[in-house]
Amino acid sequence: MKIKVVANVLEANEARAVENRRLLDQNGVLCVNMMSAPGSGKTTLLQKTLAALDAGGTPSAVLVGDLQTSRDAERLADGKAQIVQINTGQGCHLTSSQVTHGLRELDLSGLAFLFIENVGNMVCPASFDLGEHAKVVLLSTAEGNDKIAKYPVLFQQADVILLTKVDLAGVLEYDKSRVYEDLKHINTRAPVIELSAKTGQGVNQWLTWLKERRQSLKDRS
Ligand code: MG
Ligand code: ZN
Repeated sequence: MKIKVVANVLEANEARAVENRRLLDQNGVLCVNMMSAPGSGKTTLLQKTLAALDAGGTPSAVLVGDLQTSRDAERLADGKAQIVQINTGQGCHLTSSQVTHGLRELDLSGLAFLFIENVGNMVCPASFDLGEHAKVVLLSTAEGNDKIAKYPVLFQQADVILLTKVDLAGVLEYDKSRVYEDLKHINTRAPVIELSAKTGQGVNQWLTWLKERRQSLKDRS
């Protein structure tokens, strides 16, 4: 019986996700779902990303998922981007219906990008389609180089993998080769961008990836 309940929850989530995606498609908004462990640098990267998009006159928005507090949303609120906080309470992942509620708070017309900062968690966010067009998975050097094999479902689904805090690689004696080796078995499709929000390394590559994805969305419609 339990298995059936889980299947129904995921089916209902999927149906809503399809509606979210349709609404985003209609408005030409590229939506990316950003997933990672807590502390891998999602909010910091978003701050840099929004600043760059602002500077280029590109309108963007963020739905920020957190169990408690609006700390991340406050960090993101100093630019032109629309920011909506979703507090999940006990929930350790965002669901598509929470995203639907968040979408109602946004003005989608003219918007280019919608970023969803998922709850910091490497397990269940991977099972919940939110209606995004792409899944972005961050892995910071500070977390170690063994996480890809430990959390394969998350990394399998990634459309791009951001290896963050690479400025710390020297201090941490970080062996990147393990990351690339594990990915050969788990995901050979997603590009890996080595990135540091602090030094700016990889940020342009990330912005280029975003713009190319948005262009291909527009080309399809
Ligand atoms: Mg955050
Ligand atoms: Zn969860």
